[in-house]
Amino acid sequence: MHTEIIEKLANTHDLTDDELRLLINERSDSDAALLAQKAAATRDRIYGKRVFMRGLIEFSSICRNDCLYCGLRRSNTSAERYRLTKDEILSCTDEGYALGLRTFVLQGGEDSAFTDELLCDIVSAIKQRHQDCAVTLSVGERSRRSYERLFEAGTDRYLLRHETADEEHYGRLHPKELTLAKRMRCLNDLKEIGFQTGCGFMVGSPFQTTDHIVSDLRFIKEFRPQMVGIGPFIPHKDTPFRNMSAGTAELTIYLLSIVRLLLPDVLLPATTALGTISENGRERGIMAGANVVMPNLSPVSVRRKYLLYDNKLCTDSEAAENIAQLKKQIQTTGCDLVTDRGDHISKT
Ligand code: SAH
Ligand code: SF4
Repeated sequence: MHTEIIEKLANTHDLTDDELRLLINERSDSDAALLAQKAAATRDRIYGKRVFMRGLIEFSSICRNDCLYCGLRRSNTSAERYRLTKDEILSCTDEGYALGLRTFVLQGGEDSAFTDELLCDIVSAIKQRHQDCAVTLSVGERSRRSYERLFEAGTDRYLLRHETADEEHYGRLHPKELTLAKRMRCLNDLKEIGFQTGCGFMVGSPFQTTDHIVSDLRFIKEFRPQMVGIGPFIPHKDTPFRNMSAGTAELTIYLLSIVRLLLPDVLLPATTALGTISENGRERGIMAGANVVMPNLSPVSVRRKYLLYDNKLCTDSEAAENIAQLKKQIQTTGCDLVTDRGDHISKT
């Protein structure tokens, strides 16, 4: 058991790379329990026992990119493609608002039909209709000028996972036109422009080693994002990567605690992917220090078409219509699901 290292992490919010490596490689149930306890207490100190909701609107399954791990990659000819209109997106936000959601995440493939003009128009329409709401975009890599325009249109937050902080590993997960340098340029732009910015990575992605995870954690600590999205890699049948490593759910939960302790004020989702591979996965993520969930607000007719990975959950408590059920599940963790924008609280 690594009590001393965990106490150091909880007290100083940092560790050396060697200590992080040890904590990951030699993890045990008792380490996980102590980390979870410290991480939840750290979250409570800053945000209270409050879990924030983000209504996820998957507005386009069309993508020009070919990330090897993703079911929406352009070379997957079996993927069903759709895009929502502005009016359809606005119906989603109206419905979400009535359900108590105060943050909308517009996520999609890198779809060239969504020009700056169109996205800005959609964002400003949402902000005008729901002035007490935050809008988050998750639409991949764009130019700095484009990010600036989206920010000026009222976008509050932007999610762009770095996927892996190791260049060589990045190269094995992406086609050669996608590079870690470009991804980092985007993330730096987003943060400088003033978005609440989220990075993150998949746990158990193909070829991932402990050293890669240590690099990811080091990058997260140094970049100081306001949000961190980490979730399990889940294979999609039409991609070259078909295997999932054992213990991914446990490792994901363990890393959620470490991220909470590295960045006490971070907004940290317990992802739907975690709920997909482990029953009670989201609840366990909350008990380990996460404080965000992202119910699905996409129109029911498209939910089964936005398949980043196989067996994606979208009908039970992941569905925004079933918030009452989600609320009960979150209550089992001792936390409360709240109606709130859930902005980042800066503690530095
Ligand atoms: N196109 C945008 C947003 C959609 S993809 C983008 O790439 O940023 C959003 C996230 O889904 C990606 O960052 C990736 O980390 C995750 N993802 C993709 N394929 C996945 C898979 N097979 N398993 C788990 N997560 C996956
Ligand atoms: Fe497109 Fe995002 Fe999937 Fe990459 S991860 S193929 S950018 S949807």
